[in-house]
Amino acid sequence: MENWIKSTYNRIQKNTETFLGYPLAKDFKYDQFAPFLNLCINNVGDPENNSTLAIDTKEIELKVVRFFSKVLQATPEDVWGYVTNGGTEGNLYGLYVAREAFSNATVYYSESTHYSVKKNLHLLQLPNVVIRSQENGEMDYEDLESVLILHRDKPAIFFLNIGTTMTEAVDQIDEIKKIIKKYAIKNYYIHCDAAFLGSFAPFVDEKPKFDFSNDIDSISISGHKFIGSPIPCGLVLVKRKHRNRIANSVSYVDTMDTTITGSRNGLTPLFLWSFIEQFGIEGLQKRAKEAQKLARYTEHELNKIGQNAWRNKDALTVVFDSPSKEIIKQFQLATDGNISHLICVPGITKENIDNFIVALQQEQTVKKLVIEDDETSTKKNLFIHS
Ligand SMILES: *Cc1c(COP(=O)(O)O)cnc(C)c1O
Repeated sequence: MENWIKSTYNRIQKNTETFLGYPLAKDFKYDQFAPFLNLCINNVGDPENNSTLAIDTKEIELKVVRFFSKVLQATPEDVWGYVTNGGTEGNLYGLYVAREAFSNATVYYSESTHYSVKKNLHLLQLPNVVIRSQENGEMDYEDLESVLILHRDKPAIFFLNIGTTMTEAVDQIDEIKKIIKKYAIKNYYIHCDAAFLGSFAPFVDEKPKFDFSNDIDSISISGHKFIGSPIPCGLVLVKRKHRNRIANSVSYVDTMDTTITGSRNGLTPLFLWSFIEQFGIEGLQKRAKEAQKLARYTEHELNKIGQNAWRNKDALTVVFDSPSKEIIKQFQLATDGNISHLICVPGITKENIDNFIVALQQEQTVKKLVIEDDETSTKKNLFIHS
């Protein structure tokens, strides 16, 4: 192996072992697909339409789409989807078909929404209003209501977070629906950004409400987050009627141009399907429960050493007072102002958490000594001056 390849590999491998702050599962193994690296693979166009270019994995891609349609309470007759390059593309797609459904709609989303959404709205030139968030990161429904009163005659696109990036807060569909009903909003579209939770929440006991049984229009999920992948990927599911509204056929490749990009990744559907097959529903439930158990443990241990840790109900994201820059860097913690978080994704072990707690404790001890030292030197100074 050439040196630059070896050193790049080693750096990534080492840093993968230590990161705690990002929602990227590490317990996957896809090396059986190594032979595919020497092939041209391309899922160009609609996953349900074969192209004249027959070097695709669309059959497997559809298995992934159907699996998630089913766990998210939809039928293949009702819902269509494809494997994307990640959560951002799925959100862009949802907003795109929403705009095509209602030409003069306004988008409502909370201030805790992922940073990429603003850019998507800008690309699509969609009028939008940012709604305040509650302390835990969930949308402030009173603020939403006070804004909607002013626009009740216009179509509304609700962009909901099913797990915000910083605190894993879930916007409550029931609350949104109450407001829709109260103001008799006739034309509306609901998109769920389930980047992280979309592949986790369907497998836990008390499921948050966000699937197609709740009369929603589209869902975006990341594939490299709770599932895990060396290549970013994701899944978007939309009501079929929305996809049909934007479908155009392209003679050059003889398929339908229903996706954001033309050429599409054919490798990531193989990863996603092998992951689903390997675990099965029961395995996925077990994997989700284990992650929740570790999050509970982490919250408890952090509070034991006075870190003010908390998490949203059943969340894998544990939020706490930001430690020093050194610790943030060492454990690759995501930080926003004076709070940091770590996320108990599969692949993170109890031992990783314990090492982190020990590092925090050591820092607390050093800080205490410095303060005591400061106090004695101040006293000494006072003594000298007096
Ligand atoms: C990560 C994330 C995204 C973006 O997803 P990518 O897969 O990184 O494109 C969007 N929304 C939320 C809530 C996220 O956590």
